[in-house]
Amino acid sequence: MAISDTRPVNSTNASASLEALWMPFTANRAFKAKPRILVGASGMYYTADDGRQILDGTAGLWCVNAGHCREPIVAAIREQAGAMDYAPPFQMGHPPAFALAEKLAKMLPAGIGHVFFGNSGSEAVDSALKIALAYWQAKGQPQRVQFIGRARGYHGVGFGGTAVGGIAANKKQFAANLLPAVDHIPDTHDLARNAFSRGQPEHGAERADALEDMVAKYGAETIAAFIVEPVAGSTGVLVPPKGYLERIREICDRHGILLIFDEVITGFGRLGAPFAATRFNVTPDMITLAKGITNAAVPMGAVCVRDDIYETVVNGAAAGIELFHGYTYSGHPLAAAAGLATLDLYEKEGIFERAASLEDYWADAMHSLRGAPHVIDIRTIGIVAGVELASRDGAVGARAFETFLKCFDAGVMVRTTGDTLALSPPLIVEKAQIDQLVSTIATALRSVA
Ligand code: PLP
Repeated sequence: MAISDTRPVNSTNASASLEALWMPFTANRAFKAKPRILVGASGMYYTADDGRQILDGTAGLWCVNAGHCREPIVAAIREQAGAMDYAPPFQMGHPPAFALAEKLAKMLPAGIGHVFFGNSGSEAVDSALKIALAYWQAKGQPQRVQFIGRARGYHGVGFGGTAVGGIAANKKQFAANLLPAVDHIPDTHDLARNAFSRGQPEHGAERADALEDMVAKYGAETIAAFIVEPVAGSTGVLVPPKGYLERIREICDRHGILLIFDEVITGFGRLGAPFAATRFNVTPDMITLAKGITNAAVPMGAVCVRDDIYETVVNGAAAGIELFHGYTYSGHPLAAAAGLATLDLYEKEGIFERAASLEDYWADAMHSLRGAPHVIDIRTIGIVAGVELASRDGAVGARAFETFLKCFDAGVMVRTTGDTLALSPPLIVEKAQIDQLVSTIATALRSVA
C-alpha cells in the first residue's frame, strides 16, 4: 500500500511503498494493511497524513518532554550541522560533548559527576553493565559478574538489556543465548492492596527483601549490580511502594552491590523533578539516561556514574585506554548540541517545576476514569499514568489496543502495554489538553467491548 498523497507537510517520497521497511516492535502486516502515518509535529500535536491534528498523549515514546520541534533545539541542531557535522570520539574530542557532560553533571545528584555517552537507552544500559564489570575487575573483585534485574523491567534491546529486563515476550526468541549470569526479583505490582493509588502506593516495601534472597542464593561476593527502573514505564507504570527504593539502597550498601537506576523514562522532569533519584531522594551508583536528554530530537543515551567508579576504572588503570568500549556516535556533535539546547530550554521554561505543579491536576483527571468501563486500576505519579483494563479471556492486550485505535481515530495518541494504557504527554501540556485526553479515553472505553 502506498502512503496517501494528501499529506500537507514533509511529503517527500509520498508514494513510497511501505513494504521495504521492517518496522520495530510493530505488527508489520496489520500496520501495513491499515497504516497510521505521522508527517509533522509541533508543540503538543502531531499531524497525520490525512491532515488531522493528533494530540500527543505520550510525548512520542516518553521522550519529547518539552514538546515537538522546539525552535531553540531545532536551531542548535541546524547550526551544529553547518559548523561540524561529525567528529570521531575515540582519541579525539569536540566542545559540545564536553559541555553537555559538564552541564549534565551539575544537574545530577551529588557524587554522580561523570558521563559516558551512547546513542540510545539500550546502549546506555549495555554500557552501564560493562562499566559495572570493569569496575569490579579494577577493584580486584573480578568474581562479581552476576546481574540482578526485576520482573517487568524494561532495559532496552541490547543483549545485556534484554537479559536483565524482565519481559518474557522480549526474551523468548533470543533466550538460548542471552547473558548467562542474570537473575530477577519479583516486581512490585500489587493490585489487591494498592489499586487506584495516587503517587507511591502504601504497600510493598518488603518486596525489596527479594534482593536479600538473591544474596543468599549467589553470595554477595558474586553480584556486580542490581538494575531497576525507579518507576517501571514500558510494562505499565509501576510506581515504587513507599520505602521500597530506600530498602533496595540499604541492601545494596550492606552487600557492596552497585545500584543502577534506569532513568531513560523517569529522567528530565517526567516525575516533576530532574530525576527519579531526586524525587525519591535515593541516590544510585549509576543512572542511565536517553530520550529526554535531547528532547528526542537527535538520538542520544548516557550512563552517569559515581565519581569513584570513574576514578577506579580510569585513574586507577595503567597508561592507555581504560575502558574498551564506545560507539562511533558517542557524544555525536548534533546530539550534544541538541542536548545543550534542551537542558537550557528545560531550565529557562521551568519545565520540571511546571510538571510538578500540574501533578495534582493530572492525578485528579486520570483518577476520574475510575468507574469507566473495564478500568481495574489507575496509577499516577508526576505526569505519568497507567490505566489498567480488565483483559479479555485469552486475548491479553486486545482491549487496550482497540482503545488506542479508537483514541487515534478521535485525534489523541495514547500508548498501550498489555492491557494498560500508558499516558505521558509532553510536560508543556495544558489543563484543557489533559481534559481532552481523559474525555477521549472515556468515550473510547465506552465503545470497546
Ligand atoms: N530503558 C528504559 C527504562 C526504557 O524505557 C527504554 C525505552 O523505552 C530503554 C531503556 C531503551 O531505550 P532505547 O529504545 O532508546 O534503546
